[in-house]
Amino acid sequence: MMLRITNYFKKRVVFYAILTCIIFITPFIRINGNHLFLLSFDKKMLNLFFVSFNTNELYLMPFLLIMMFVFIFFITNLLGRVWCAWSCPQTIFRVIFRDLIQTKIFKLYGGRKNKQNNARDKIFAKIFSVALFYPISIIAASNFLWYFIPPEDFFAYIKEPSEHLILIGILFFLSLFITFDITYIKENFCAYICPYARIQSVMFDNDTKSVIYDESRGGIIYKDGLKVSKKPVGGECIGCEACVKVCPTHIDIRKGMQLDCINCLECADACSSVQARFNRPSLISWSSTKEIKTKEKYNLLRPRTIIYVVVLIAMFIGLVYKAEHKETMLLNINRTTELYSLEDDGKIVNNAYLVLFHNTSDKDHRFYIQSLDDDIKVIKPKKDFRVKAGEKVKQIVVLSSENKKVKKHHKHIKLKAYALDDEKVFTIQDTIFIYPKEKKWKEKKK
Ligand code: SF4
Ligand code: SF4
Repeated sequence: MMLRITNYFKKRVVFYAILTCIIFITPFIRINGNHLFLLSFDKKMLNLFFVSFNTNELYLMPFLLIMMFVFIFFITNLLGRVWCAWSCPQTIFRVIFRDLIQTKIFKLYGGRKNKQNNARDKIFAKIFSVALFYPISIIAASNFLWYFIPPEDFFAYIKEPSEHLILIGILFFLSLFITFDITYIKENFCAYICPYARIQSVMFDNDTKSVIYDESRGGIIYKDGLKVSKKPVGGECIGCEACVKVCPTHIDIRKGMQLDCINCLECADACSSVQARFNRPSLISWSSTKEIKTKEKYNLLRPRTIIYVVVLIAMFIGLVYKAEHKETMLLNINRTTELYSLEDDGKIVNNAYLVLFHNTSDKDHRFYIQSLDDDIKVIKPKKDFRVKAGEKVKQIVVLSSENKKVKKHHKHIKLKAYALDDEKVFTIQDTIFIYPKEKKWKEKKK
């Protein structure tokens, strides 16, 4: 039976194409004017799963952040650096620049399978390859910005560049940075700059999937980090170094797990072709340390992964519950500097408040406010007022009460603000109503 030669590179390229389409198209999809994900600092708005939230309602953010971190821990513990090889923009752009533009189009390297040679001395080809990549950087930078400035606004803004110099500046510097990173910093970004590469090893255990050279079959090449053999006697490794030549981060995986390894599996593909000639499986595979050592099956359900899944489900339920019970209006009550004013020879006491009505729903409403305390009435505003969808209106609200003696000269009261045209839109908030101190009260009463 002939063994199947692995082609992880082809699978990765197909995956990159699908992922790129999703990331590119997503900002254009809208339902009722809301995006799947949009964090607009400009409009102080968060769109999540096609529901719009105001930045005053960022109670969803803790759920999202915890979910994001737990998901990173979970996926890293389960599948190692799967993000680096299959989804990281750095890796995707490096494949486009190095393997497509430099190698295939401009023939700057001998071939994709040997990445250790220096680029050929073709100065114009080098300049043109960077020039060809720059428009890709502009598209990538724009695509990134569409998650913060929706495409409908983005394209309107760039039609008037003089009016939106900050946006044009951000776009320019972001695209320059992408080009500089991909064409000059290269994989050094993964090895020396990326924080994820540094912290991920603490999330690994013996069951974590990773790119591993099977020393028990191939033979010992390195001992304590030093090369002791090129072609071990009795081992299946033939010392061809196809796995080393193909590596984009210029390492030898036979040395063991290394920080620079982005788990791209190109070394596994290379070894798979070599070993297929001897009808043997690749010496390098995507396995766990335990699988290699004990030949046991990969263990998916482990205490750590189960805990991560439970936390993720709990956070998701919390997120959906909070999103379903989204506030349709917000109220911010502030007292004015004057404690109270007296009327009708001191028989009536008034308190004034500066109240911010925020219509967080997607419809315009007519609002009014009422006191839920029988002794206290709203005397201003006299009429209801309109607040447009998503907008805020400030109103001076004056409450009035018969001047009487109360404990500690103030009373805790509740104010209800509501939409006259939709009984579901309302909020109730606490505040205090101040009465004059007893001495003043008596003086006025005389
Ligand atoms: S060692 Fe293998 S998996 Fe790791 S970066 Fe190099 S080629 Fe990719
Ligand atoms: S490609 Fe396989 S056989 Fe060749 S050096 Fe690497 S591990 Fe050994």
